[in-house]
Amino acid sequence: MENGSSQSWRFRGNEELNTASGITIRGVLTSLMQSLNQSDPRPTIPLGHGDPSVFPCFRTTPIAEDAIADSVRSAKFNCYSPTVGILPARRAIAEYLSRDLPYQLSPDDVYLTLGCTQAIEVILTVLARPGANILLPTPGFPYYEARAAFSHIEARHFDLLPEKDWEVDLNSVEALADENTVAMVIVNPGNPCGNVFTYQHLKKVAETARKLGILVIADEVYDHLAFGSNPFVPMGVFGSIVPVITLGSISKRWIVPGWRLGWLVTSDPNGILRKSGIVDCIMGFLNISSDPATFIQGAVPQILAKTNEEFFSRIISVLRQASDICYDRVKEVSCITCPHKPEGSMFVMVKLNVSLLEDISDDMDFCLKLAIEENVIVLPGVTVGLKNWLRITFAVEPSYLEDGFARIKAFCQRHAKKQ
Ligand SMILES: *Cc1c(COP(=O)(O)O)cnc(C)c1O
Repeated sequence: MENGSSQSWRFRGNEELNTASGITIRGVLTSLMQSLNQSDPRPTIPLGHGDPSVFPCFRTTPIAEDAIADSVRSAKFNCYSPTVGILPARRAIAEYLSRDLPYQLSPDDVYLTLGCTQAIEVILTVLARPGANILLPTPGFPYYEARAAFSHIEARHFDLLPEKDWEVDLNSVEALADENTVAMVIVNPGNPCGNVFTYQHLKKVAETARKLGILVIADEVYDHLAFGSNPFVPMGVFGSIVPVITLGSISKRWIVPGWRLGWLVTSDPNGILRKSGIVDCIMGFLNISSDPATFIQGAVPQILAKTNEEFFSRIISVLRQASDICYDRVKEVSCITCPHKPEGSMFVMVKLNVSLLEDISDDMDFCLKLAIEENVIVLPGVTVGLKNWLRITFAVEPSYLEDGFARIKAFCQRHAKKQ
């Protein structure tokens, strides 16, 4: 065969990857970034994604940096790790999480993963069986939809209620569930809503899940990033009511998302997950998957034991201050309203009133034109399941936040309908 034209190739891409990945935060943000006006001399204000690690005020603690350097230099972690993760790291995570629980986790309850992202992948693969469905929040974190679709798990959506501090609509949870429902997902502190569930509400979630016979998957990747009146309560506190799979990582609290160290934890003092075979399946998945870099695992005990309160409280106070600025500035822009002041994580959802604007058709159009005209990136709500809302990240340097909101205000005034 001289030229390739008559050659036929037997391979092609897996089409399910195109359909399952659907709308993703990354995909939408990438296309917004591509529409930025390159000739605008002003800096781009990134209020779209949740990675504040680039800003000096959000730099991680030197204790974590030293722990990594020590781990590398020890030459003890150049090896492969066991599939579940190295024991000292699992023990450290079990102790760290047990501080907030009424029972003690064992290292055997902890599985190390490549960030919280892989922990989601693990559990949504483990739960897959023909006909299974899972209950996901709206608005939510679209990676769950993508992973569920790829695992052939049907996603059913319950609402988070803006007028009730974004609490779960438990009536709709009950109405959606049937004999094929395997689990419900909660994200607390909330992404995208910036809410923090109360103890009482989490207890009701546990009781509802128990009644339905389903598992609770608690995404606590923003654990302890709470700066309002509700303290962070881990779902695992209710592990004796309902088995809980707790997902987390060091990405957000330590602001090192690039280190890719997360965990999946069975918060299940009654051992229901072990009996039902879920634990064996988690092991089975990890056996055909890869692990976080061993030297990162090696640093975990030191990171968890030595990081001081000063670091955590400084980050909390920066986030609180930023969320205050955000909440106040939203009030100055007539076409957006915030139903609930953020009190955790790094995000707030604001409602966009397009009827006040002249030539903006919806949230996607708003974000696109804002990127082009003002070099400001904001995530359209449709990406997280709520059309004509916006998700704004306040975890940026405060001066950026002020600058960003000044531009959003100017943009909205320029596009306002003339009375
Ligand atoms: C950031 C995020 C994750 C992913 O965490 P990584 O540790 O970076 O993989 C998972 N869930 C939610 C809700 C998040 O916001």
